[in-house]
Amino acid sequence: MRNRVIIRDIQPLLTSANRVESGEDSLIDVPASSFELGGYLVPPPHGFQFPKNFPYCCEYHIDQFTRAQQVYENFPTCCDGHRRLAKTKWFRKLDYIYVPFKLYRW
Ligand SMILES: [Zn+2]
Ligand SMILES: [Zn+2]
Repeated sequence: MRNRVIIRDIQPLLTSANRVESGEDSLIDVPASSFELGGYLVPPPHGFQFPKNFPYCCEYHIDQFTRAQQVYENFPTCCDGHRRLAKTKWFRKLDYIYVPFKLYRW
């Protein structure tokens, strides 16, 4: 997974870029609702290794993995912010399928 910015609504970016191009503004300014920051890998500490059979290695990790899956199952009806997200024309739950794995791993 590479670092990336996903533009969900190009119009605010184009409008702001035109303002900079015409000299009306000095910075391109886009609202957070028009783009998304993609997930990315966080490298583990040097020398770290997961336990054998991770995440089924112990009760704690089984519980954490189960909770991570439940978070995804409840998404996007889990809170007001995610319910608003789900109403956007571009929302697809499958775009976030990596999240449960990222919660318990990286
Ligand atoms: Zn464990
Ligand atoms: Zn939520």
